[in-house]
Amino acid sequence: MAVLLIAEDDEDIAAVIARVCKRAGLTVLRAPDGQVALEMIIKERPDVLLTDLGMPRMDGWELIRAVRAHDGVRDTPVAILTGQLTPGDPRVAEAHACAILMKPCPNDQLLLMIEKLATVGPHGHSGAESRCPVRNPVTV
Ligand SMILES: [Zn+2]
Repeated sequence: MAVLLIAEDDEDIAAVIARVCKRAGLTVLRAPDGQVALEMIIKERPDVLLTDLGMPRMDGWELIRAVRAHDGVRDTPVAILTGQLTPGDPRVAEAHACAILMKPCPNDQLLLMIEKLATVGPHGHSGAESRCPVRNPVTV
């Protein structure tokens, strides 16, 4: 069974996503900020990370950067779920995320992406050796 880590500071949103994903058979872990999420990723090795961008202590951008720089977990599939992304934000290209989903994201679309990432499994994401088979068109 795939393990999903949700990094989300909004308790209500995290609860809704967790419920949907558990119902679909996923094991769900939750972190209220990027710092806790990073510690959990290193300790629990989730199959997929779903992260918000705006979070206290460590935001989503910093979290993804830290994961990609950390041996052993750097190849974790990552999806961003955000309500605040400006078109043309240069951080999107640098983030090495597999997918970006915009809030509010329909449950079926969210689940589909998470299951896709869990099926794909760990894969390289750094520069020229990026082998991301998901890479949803980041059109923002
Ligand atoms: Zn990827």
